[in-house]
Amino acid sequence: MEHSFLRHLLKGAHKDEAEARRRRLTLYFISYVGGTLMAIMAGINVGGDNPFLIAALAVSATVIYLNVIASHIFPHSDVSYYVAGLIVLFTFNALIYTGGYNNTGLYFLYPLIFVQIIVVSFRPALLYVAATMMLAVVMLFNQHLIYAQYAEEDVSRFLISMGCFICVAFIAENFWHQSRKEMLEENLERTRQANTDPLTKLPNRRFLEAVYFEKVSKDPVSYFPLSTVVVDIDHFKVINDSYGHDVGDEVLIQFTEIMKSAVRTTDIVARTGGEEFLVIFPKATLTQAVKLAEIIRAKVEAKPFDKGDIHHKITASFGVATALTDGNINATLKQADDNLYQAKNSGRNKVV
Ligand code: GH3
Ligand code: MG
Ligand code: MG
Repeated sequence: MEHSFLRHLLKGAHKDEAEARRRRLTLYFISYVGGTLMAIMAGINVGGDNPFLIAALAVSATVIYLNVIASHIFPHSDVSYYVAGLIVLFTFNALIYTGGYNNTGLYFLYPLIFVQIIVVSFRPALLYVAATMMLAVVMLFNQHLIYAQYAEEDVSRFLISMGCFICVAFIAENFWHQSRKEMLEENLERTRQANTDPLTKLPNRRFLEAVYFEKVSKDPVSYFPLSTVVVDIDHFKVINDSYGHDVGDEVLIQFTEIMKSAVRTTDIVARTGGEEFLVIFPKATLTQAVKLAEIIRAKVEAKPFDKGDIHHKITASFGVATALTDGNINATLKQADDNLYQAKNSGRNKVV
């Protein structure tokens, strides 16, 4: 059992679902409002003298709708965001090309580029905006290639103000991302602290209940049969009483290390009480778990606590039980507890 494994489990339980939902709702909102506006504007321009504009608006509106429908069908795919970014690239430059209604298209480019930045999201958005603007600059400086005609001073003012706008938008986006990341890290750290025992650094009971068993019940095939081993150090009180509480703590740490060294990275060793631990072997039958517990028991017995002039033999008792399905984890833990009680009552230092 490794620290990184634990962190991974906690992170999984801690996914930023709210942020993903927010992003998706933003896409829906922008798509429905934007698509409808473009369809309306295409309608208004029908009969005017700019057929390219009508075609561009109609194409944009259609693709926007198709894209948002696709994102409803595949809600976990990110492709819609990137497609939306491409639609902006197209619409943006189509407006420059056609000039928009009475050559006023440039005004609409500010909200469009902003949409691109928030929909595609930070790093990839840099590329999208760069590509969009590159195309725009090429057209604005080669107006013989395009349908619309702009005055020279309009072009320079547009480019300068658009440059400022893009910088400010990215700075704002960057701050938002940074603070969000820091908040998530802090949250994760707080969760990690709440889920670990400060003395042994092992996961605690709360981790088992709130994180591990949740994960197990979501993916039973990967975990069951799930074997549980309740471990309790024998006559631990004697250690505290003879050498003091600090030595007792050191014994707990050494004991933890021995147990950790005896299990695989995907097994769990948790501290569930003062000198009581729970070891979990996923995908292990009762017979296998009993063997594994026996290995831990022998390792513990073979390594007495040695420090200064303290030499103290350590042993522990083990109660094993196996859950076959998600429904009987609690009954299994109770059974393991009962078995531990039996191990204690029948002489200790044994696996039942
Ligand atoms: P048994 O073999 O029946 O398990 O006997 P035991 O002495 O191990 O069990 P008991 O439950 O009587 O005593 C457990 C002791 O563990 C009592 C408590 O003071 C001590 N303890 C609990 N938590 C800690 C801790 O964090 N550090 C230390 N040093 N001692 C602890
Ligand atoms: Mg004990
Ligand atoms: Mg105890």
